[in-house]
Amino acid sequence: MSQLQFSQSQPRDRGVVDCAKCHSPIYVDKPGSVAIEFSVPCPKCGHRGMYFKRMMRGENEQPERRRTPRE
Ligand SMILES: [Zn+2]
Repeated sequence: MSQLQFSQSQPRDRGVVDCAKCHSPIYVDKPGSVAIEFSVPCPKCGHRGMYFKRMMRGENEQPERRRTPRE
């Protein structure tokens, strides 16, 4: 069993939202401190969108996979 190691000085996690325009991941530091609704610029395309806190996922979480019916 491997144990994850976190350095004390670094934030343990970041939040990620997907850019509304180009769907690139936008990393949000201190996900616990953002407002319910917040605005971040996309580092890739520059689009500044409004996002909801509940849209944010953890950095290491995988986005929910789309179900593709294969039957
Ligand atoms: Zn973008």
